[in-house]
Amino acid sequence: MQLTRRDLFATSSIALASLSRAFGQTPPVPQTSFDPLRRNVGIFTGRGGTIGMLVAQDGIVVVDTQFADTAAIALGNLKQMTARTIDVLINTHHHGDHTSGNIVFRSAAAKHVAHRNVPALQKAQAAAAKTEAQQAYADTTFDTTWSATVGTETVNLKYYGPGHTSGDSVTTFQNANVVHMGDLMFHQRHPRVDRGAGASIRNWIVTLESVTKEHPADTIYIAGHAKENLPVTVTRDDLLKFRDYFSGLLAFVQKGISSGRPAAEIVKAGTVPGFAGYEGNSEGTIQAAYDELTAKG
Ligand SMILES: [Zn+2]
Repeated sequence: MQLTRRDLFATSSIALASLSRAFGQTPPVPQTSFDPLRRNVGIFTGRGGTIGMLVAQDGIVVVDTQFADTAAIALGNLKQMTARTIDVLINTHHHGDHTSGNIVFRSAAAKHVAHRNVPALQKAQAAAAKTEAQQAYADTTFDTTWSATVGTETVNLKYYGPGHTSGDSVTTFQNANVVHMGDLMFHQRHPRVDRGAGASIRNWIVTLESVTKEHPADTIYIAGHAKENLPVTVTRDDLLKFRDYFSGLLAFVQKGISSGRPAAEIVKAGTVPGFAGYEGNSEGTIQAAYDELTAKG
């Protein structure tokens, strides 16, 4: 089945309302859309990290789940298209804007996969937020790589070491030549660097470069987040620009450290030279770079 925008928009409001009631919510209001990319792989955007989907007659894969309300819309759309069970549900990492809809998708999926560090990180996050009752955790985990044949598609997961957290998977739809980066890719936005969850800017730089080397020049990359009005689908050049952003960030912060400036002063300077157009608050990112560069051991 070819996935079209029309199919996924053709969801009845009755179905949505009943799905939402099942999860104790008021009927959904968020703005959502579905955009096909290539060979039955598309993206669902609503609130939170971009959801990637493979929807074919012989296989369904869902990558990330946003929040319960938008997840209910995405699942409602999917159920309008096909009665098939989701073959594989994937979490790119544990953050709430990528996993809070797990509870909506879980019963519709045969298998739920994430890197082996994700369930523990998600549990700690849920305990801190007192949202334990609203969680669903991956039942299949992997260390470095994981692969599955889903219909005529091959889905590969790979862990490149710490980056945005210490549990980020890169998901490759091999035949479609589409890669979901999770939050390893922010399109022109200052990224969250979750040092408490084992993040590493230095290895994030290596990861971005490795990913581009391991995929063809015309791969479509899905970013977790993008600057307002910019697409969440990007190219190899965008990944390498993001690598350069991090290199510039580390150089800028290291210069401040070397000249004896305190963290607060470096953070206040506010912009990474050459990347002033990036959206969001750079303070957290600069602080994380400072902490990483001055960490002992
Ligand atoms: Zn994240």
